[in-house]
Amino acid sequence: MTSQTQPPKRGKMVNGFDPADLSALPAETAEMVARRARLLGPAYRLFYKNPVQVSRAEGVILYDRQGRDYLDCYNNVVSVGHANPTVNAAIKAQLDRLCTHTRYLQDEILDFAEDLLASFEPELEHVMFTCSGSEANDLALRIAMHQTGRKGIIITSEAYHGNSFLTAGISPSMGENSALGPWVRRVPAPDSYRIDAADLGTYMAARVAEQIHELKRHGEGIAAFIADSMFSSDGVFAHPTSVLAPVAEVVRQAGGVMIADEVQSGFGRSGERLWGYQRHGFVPDIVTLGKPMGNGYPVAAVVTRADVIARFGTEMRYFNTFGGNSVAIAAARATYAFIRDEGLVARAKATGDELRAGLLALADRHAGIGDVRGSGLYFGVEMVADRATKAPDAQLTAAVVNHLRENRILISATGPLANVLKIRPPLVFGPPHVARLIEGLDQALSAVAPG
Ligand code: PMP
Repeated sequence: MTSQTQPPKRGKMVNGFDPADLSALPAETAEMVARRARLLGPAYRLFYKNPVQVSRAEGVILYDRQGRDYLDCYNNVVSVGHANPTVNAAIKAQLDRLCTHTRYLQDEILDFAEDLLASFEPELEHVMFTCSGSEANDLALRIAMHQTGRKGIIITSEAYHGNSFLTAGISPSMGENSALGPWVRRVPAPDSYRIDAADLGTYMAARVAEQIHELKRHGEGIAAFIADSMFSSDGVFAHPTSVLAPVAEVVRQAGGVMIADEVQSGFGRSGERLWGYQRHGFVPDIVTLGKPMGNGYPVAAVVTRADVIARFGTEMRYFNTFGGNSVAIAAARATYAFIRDEGLVARAKATGDELRAGLLALADRHAGIGDVRGSGLYFGVEMVADRATKAPDAQLTAAVVNHLRENRILISATGPLANVLKIRPPLVFGPPHVARLIEGLDQALSAVAPG
């Protein structure tokens, strides 16, 4: 067969609905899935074997059109809760007053920038606004390349950083069909479960140094190292927190820029610090923010040191029609104020500790759980067929995720081996929700465990 007659290899996604399962769906769902494919085309993916239809939501609960409730344990966008009344009121009021872009003088963007920048170390002096995490990372890469005059980017092996041409090129978790950029080099994620190293920080720094050398040998130097400090798509590695500081040292020695992608781990997700990189005890040169920033309203940002943006700012210019518009700023201000005023970072820690205790208790009784890791309200639970050999069990993982879904509890899965349960609820998740999730997981693990 020529490549033209070969069926295209389907872009992989952990916990993605497989169209081959269409006929197994309830008639109404099947019809909606088929209509969706007809209208939206073939590139979109759905979650779960039995996709979930949703009509409205409140707090940590989603409702379908029959009014059935689903516990949302997988949403880091609506961090302060679905349909948060405070954030929504701020958005509506701003929409009624003014919505325009950043080429006019407005107090609100300056007030918010001042407030937000105060949460970073003093050397991170400027903030620029975008609409999405992809745009923020894209801009961060352009700034780093402009600053250094080089193109080399080092990432972790299953990273995800966005959907633009540049950021898709540094997102190997998109799968083999999605080409990496020519000057992109990968290092292993700090896999605390599988890598046998006395010190993961030293190990990572050595791998990064090797790739810096490789880039130079091929005639290009390093512009930036970029990582999400929770290593989400690599399988969620929240500990140890001694990894990124030694990496920063070798990157800076080579003249590279350290970019912290806080799209997942920012805004208190880790339950320890507002920004995930702060757990690693280093200060990045550029920080990118996104997802939870506007509690669902599209707003994201790039925070930088003044010296890193200086050349770019003089020789180039930046405009983004919707990035940082008046309503986006109102959404971000209200969300940020809610996180701060409601003490959601501390709450994420308290609820997260309770969730961790529940998960560890399950691990005592269910042999399929090989490892429980996470921080705050972000957990990866690695599923194995055999604890001694750590043989990954993607099938068991998918079965657990789908069993939970049938009980209207929504989590997902991640990792290069598709065997890590990913639990990442809104920060307003509370003790009753933890209880429902743990009970559901217990039932799922009992029902689907092999043997
Ligand atoms: N960085 C990370 C770590 C992400 O998880 C994502 C989204 N999953 C992005 C960047 C891209 O953000 P967006 O989808 O808003 O473009």
